[in-house]
Amino acid sequence: MELLKRLGGWQRPSLLLLAATLLVVSVLYGQSLTTQLKQFRTASSVALDSQWKKVLALFGNDDFYLYVVGILLSIQIPFWSFGILFMFVDYYNWPRWTRKYKLQPGTHEPVDLNRLKETIQVVLINQWSVSFPLLISSYFMKKFTNTMPVIDDLPSLQRFIIDFIIFIIVDEIGLYYVHRLMHHPKLYSWVHKKHHEWPAPIAITFVYSTRIEFVLNMIPVVLGPLMTNPHLFTLWAWYAFVHLRGLKNHSGYHIPGLTSSEEHNYHHMMNNACFSRSPFLDGIHGTDKGFRAYLARKELEKQQKNE
Ligand SMILES: [Zn+2]
Ligand SMILES: [Zn+2]
Repeated sequence: MELLKRLGGWQRPSLLLLAATLLVVSVLYGQSLTTQLKQFRTASSVALDSQWKKVLALFGNDDFYLYVVGILLSIQIPFWSFGILFMFVDYYNWPRWTRKYKLQPGTHEPVDLNRLKETIQVVLINQWSVSFPLLISSYFMKKFTNTMPVIDDLPSLQRFIIDFIIFIIVDEIGLYYVHRLMHHPKLYSWVHKKHHEWPAPIAITFVYSTRIEFVLNMIPVVLGPLMTNPHLFTLWAWYAFVHLRGLKNHSGYHIPGLTSSEEHNYHHMMNNACFSRSPFLDGIHGTDKGFRAYLARKELEKQQKNE
């Protein structure tokens, strides 16, 4: 206002006109920007929904096929495509550049064919004699309790992200305590020892376990979806993610660009530490102390090699 008082003649109305013009432009431009953003969001969600409708049509719009076969494929396709890829690398030790990412160099270089065959057999038994019947039962349970996931229009991005965050938190907490329980001396030998037959794991040993352990490991994974009853697409994405993460954590490699597999690799190596996938609960319970020292030793060895 002081400035306006000091201005005289034509300057005062010109400045007021300029301010008014700026105000009108910003309101109009702001409105059109918001409208454009809304239109963009609507257009992209319409495009995604139409793609989703095509996927639904592939399953004949039948909720049995969408739930049972859809979940089955969301597990089998990522698991076996990446599982076979890792087995190929472990058996042929090729390409050579992969060797420098081995977490326990010298182990399974190459992997023993007979052990590989036995592991594939156990994995198939778990997937088809445990997981598959449970999946079919869960379909009928969902129908019976009227809790089938939403299948039509895709969920919003916010809902998808919130569901995923809940699943990860519930799974992390659940897995830590289920896993520690399986290491209890009264349970270990008949529940979890089989999984630890691989002190240097390879990718598909993620599912190498007794059937009882396989079921126990499922609890934290399905608990999140039971709590939020997500859209079917979120469910597919979650199961695909869980299997890819499991393969990565058991691969025996530090895959560049991905979170480290060192924790679970150390768990297999030592058998008494790092029960979780993330450092939080192991940090709280002090079950990661040896691991920190191991990492420091590894880093020192690397530095000495480079000198
Ligand atoms: Zn264990
Ligand atoms: Zn493991």
